[in-house]
Amino acid sequence: MKAFARKTRERIEAVLASGSGDLRRPVLRRGNESNVRGMFIIGDLAGAPVIKLAMAQGVEVVDFISKLPEMQTPAEGDTLDVIIVGAGAAGLNAALAAQEKGYRSVVLEKCKIANTIENFPEGKWVYAEPDDTPPKGKLWLDGAVKEDLIARWSQIISEYGLDVRTEEPLTELHRRGDGTFDIKTTKGEYHAKKVILATGQRGNPRTLGTPGEDLEQVYHQLYSPTKYHDEDVFVVGGGNSAVEAALTLSKRNRVVLSYRGGEFSRLFKDNRRQIDEAIAAKRIEVVFNSSVTEFKPGVAVVTVDHGGYQSEREIPMDHGFVLIGAELPVKFLKSIGVRLENEWTASPLPALALTTVLLLAVWFAGALLGGPAPFGLGQGVGGVAWAGTGFALLSLGGLVVMGARGDRWSWLGVSFFVWYSIYGIKVGSGSEFWPYRGWGYETMSFFDRPWAFWYTILYTTLMTVFGVRALKRWGLDRRDRFQIWRFASLISFQWVFFFLIPEFLFQLAVKHQWVGAALASDPQFAEQAWRSYGIIYAWPLFFYTFFYDPNTVWVVWGVLLTFVVIPIFVLFNGKRYCSWICGCGGLAETFGDRWRHLAPKGKASVRWEWMNTAVLVLAVVVTVLMLGRDVIGLLGAADKGMWVYRIVADVWLVGILPVTLYPFMGGKVWCRYWCPLAKMMGLMSKFYVKLGISRFHIVANDKCIACNECSRNCQVGIDVMQYALKQEPIDNATSSCIGCGICVTVCPMDTLSYSTDGTLSLPVLNAAS
Ligand SMILES: Cc1cc2nc3c(=O)[nH]c(=O)nc-3n(C[C@H](O)[C@H](O)[C@H](O)COP(=O)(O)OP(=O)(O)OC[C@H]3O[C@@H](n4cnc5c(N)ncnc54)[C@H](O)[C@@H]3O)c2cc1C
Ligand code: SF4
Ligand code: SF4
Repeated sequence: MKAFARKTRERIEAVLASGSGDLRRPVLRRGNESNVRGMFIIGDLAGAPVIKLAMAQGVEVVDFISKLPEMQTPAEGDTLDVIIVGAGAAGLNAALAAQEKGYRSVVLEKCKIANTIENFPEGKWVYAEPDDTPPKGKLWLDGAVKEDLIARWSQIISEYGLDVRTEEPLTELHRRGDGTFDIKTTKGEYHAKKVILATGQRGNPRTLGTPGEDLEQVYHQLYSPTKYHDEDVFVVGGGNSAVEAALTLSKRNRVVLSYRGGEFSRLFKDNRRQIDEAIAAKRIEVVFNSSVTEFKPGVAVVTVDHGGYQSEREIPMDHGFVLIGAELPVKFLKSIGVRLENEWTASPLPALALTTVLLLAVWFAGALLGGPAPFGLGQGVGGVAWAGTGFALLSLGGLVVMGARGDRWSWLGVSFFVWYSIYGIKVGSGSEFWPYRGWGYETMSFFDRPWAFWYTILYTTLMTVFGVRALKRWGLDRRDRFQIWRFASLISFQWVFFFLIPEFLFQLAVKHQWVGAALASDPQFAEQAWRSYGIIYAWPLFFYTFFYDPNTVWVVWGVLLTFVVIPIFVLFNGKRYCSWICGCGGLAETFGDRWRHLAPKGKASVRWEWMNTAVLVLAVVVTVLMLGRDVIGLLGAADKGMWVYRIVADVWLVGILPVTLYPFMGGKVWCRYWCPLAKMMGLMSKFYVKLGISRFHIVANDKCIACNECSRNCQVGIDVMQYALKQEPIDNATSSCIGCGICVTVCPMDTLSYSTDGTLSLPVLNAAS
């Protein structure tokens, strides 16, 4: 039983944490301050994927720090104003900015100046992307070979007399009660008012963990490929670094490349071509489906999986290169107190218990607001109800405190409580969910307006406030017109079609007969303002267009919208309805925007998308039953089906669960996993792609540097980087892309676009490109 509970918990945690996976970052607040007050994180470690953006963060963080009250007086004695850890692009530019402000600062560097770039292969061209953003600060940046770039940086360091201490890694950090820091390195101790951590995340090469990996002739980086000549070289890995290393080394050596996969799936197009040629010409031997079991002097032992049986093989090795990427220095970050995003380390039980107590307490407290007395307490309920109120406040407070200390289960409890209450009450007066049954709806209906109206106000307010923030974040700050139009569209659709028309304009149109005298005087039309949601919401998202005796106008428009307008829209725009028009997608794109990077990722997360097929099938079945109920009868199956669909899809799947999960799995849980309209549009779009007539897709050029920003920010969890590396188009035949364009917007190398010429284009153009 215990083992079962543990396994279940581990599975749930794996699902919840799948959004971050390898892309996990430190939790940051305003000004890039970490959870350790006074310690700021910049550069690669804080999500700036290229040199220019890392440099910009160096300047911005010093600017932010300089405005803090405690930085208005200079540091005294041996205390430094700022200590900067890491002499890469971000750290060096921060040091230059700090010097400009007159701060006393020291830069601590674990190895050499610009060590990450130093480790690039000899002669590598370093791009200065994004092209349209000028570099910030005093560090030089332009397209150059790595050797020239490092020479220029070294010159700048001496010109400005920066105090950079190389070969001196930070080992310990302690925050004093007064907010200053004691820092220990391998060579000395420092005291500073602020710490800027710019240690990047590429400095920790990933290891295999196999015996013998620490042998002298096994390396985790390739510095100088020209050093090796007429030797047996063994390379491990299937990414670009490993393949590039194998290709370069194969010019003068005998090379065997071991890869655990059955085929290369993350290679640049050019690398792919070259490795295929090298294999065909027998210049490189690739052992697919192999894993290294041991390194011995002169030999690498690998196990090869032949799909039914395994064999062992010894490969001669004068030099071995394990090039399987880098990993976040989690241990180091934890050791200095940095909290990482999306960590599910606490036990779920306290949060579960407190959330249950909270709901029970609300049940008792409800008696004060006209709710039924629990357990037939009758007269004696008063005191118990007050106690319930107290317990409710205490348990909610407890969840918040635990959440603030880093227990994500507690935030999950709070989030569930909020959205379960909002939606559980909205079900209708008298049919509210427990513990609100019989009192919730009335309590939440004020100023002569029902809760459903206030709910729409809440929804529209959230979308507007967070929509403007998202518009600023993706549109105005980046001067991206596509995103400005997109967020303006989402907010406008919400205001006009999902708020003003159903709540006010429909009634006005009827009153002043703008819809014509006949419709205005027809109660079947005039008294059903709620049907105006069907102007934009197509079946099966707005499920009720065809049911409960609609006026013919709605039936005709519903058929046109679903079977003519939507298919034409999808032909040109794929599933952009979800990211430009729909209110459900709109709340996800606006209120859910801050959590977009937490969308579940990986193959398993894509497999779960079968669920929206199930909801679509359920919608079709219930629709058929409803339309034929007078003919078929079937012992009230239609009404039962309708009830099930309403509670399951329209309350739990669209209302309670997805919004509860926004802060944990990003905003697109409903759209990606459960929305039947999204599925229907996906099928149409896929069909158009197969016919070769779809005009929606995203293409990539050859500039991808595998920074992962696009995949991290995709709200529907698509591994965009995979497509970019292989320069394959993203369309709805291979993905559930909704055309939000965020991947295009975030890409620092301008790799992605809607087509090669910046406009929508036919797939045939891709094939040619
Ligand atoms: C293969 C590859 C190709 C790339 N190509 C490009 C390109 O063409 N153009 C581009 O703009 N970007 C490119 N990048 C990305 C670029 O390298 C990074 O964006 C950039 O280096 C980030 O700068 P940073 O200062 O944040 O971190 P880093 O450059 O990684 O610097 C961090 C520094 O901190 C030091 N450090 C780590 N731990 C400690 C410690 N405990 N104590 C003291 N010091 C420590 C490290 O030694 C390192 O010198 C590429 C990256 C890779 C992997
Ligand atoms: S692939 Fe890009 S455009 Fe498509 S949904 Fe993801 S981020 Fe949006
Ligand atoms: S395509 Fe994606 S991984 Fe490649 S550079 Fe752009 S954002 Fe980074």
